[in-house]
Amino acid sequence: MPSEKPLRLFFALPCPPGLAANICSWRDSHNLRGRPVLKNNLHLTLAFLGSQPATVLNGLSQLGDLLHGNAFTLRLNQVQTIGHSFLCLTPSQVPPALLHLVEDLRSGLSALGVALDSRSFLPHVTLAREADALQPSTASPEFEWRVDRFGLFRSENLSGGVHYDELAHWVLTAPSD
Ligand code: ATP
Ligand code: MG
Repeated sequence: MPSEKPLRLFFALPCPPGLAANICSWRDSHNLRGRPVLKNNLHLTLAFLGSQPATVLNGLSQLGDLLHGNAFTLRLNQVQTIGHSFLCLTPSQVPPALLHLVEDLRSGLSALGVALDSRSFLPHVTLAREADALQPSTASPEFEWRVDRFGLFRSENLSGGVHYDELAHWVLTAPSD
């Protein structure tokens, strides 16, 4: 029997639509060169799983059900260029609840035998690729994101560009701040 096509998967925080619109207006007001990330694609990656067989989905769904993360507020108040000229928003302070969620995901994934790369977690929301750095005189941004859900996404390269399909999502509760 032919095996199903592997899926490119990642866990992420999807940026809420209102916040995504505000972030994109701010970004677009700076006339950056490069390739802007579409508003509906803004997200913060928690764990990148890469190419996985479809058989892993059941285990991932159970893992999501087992995690009981807290909701938290994320303040995106810095702009950083990461890797190959990825212009990103980052928080100057990483909420402990975000770190716990990532640690729980990583250990759950490891128990499922899903290998992750060993780079340490760097929370960021990519705004544009191959982008210019912002002028140093640019005022710092201040975006407040109430994070109350995370999801499992499939990434696909379609003719119109990359598309993220939310396969499942889970609610974060019991605010810790
Ligand atoms: P494209 O690669 O087509 O330009 P993309 O980078 O948005 O688009 P993916 O490469 O599928 O799509 O990545 C999905 C998410 O996972 C993105 O947030 C990306 O930054 C992150 N990611 C991709 N590769 C890695 C990796 N090796 N380690 C950590 N995160 C990664
Ligand atoms: Mg990529």
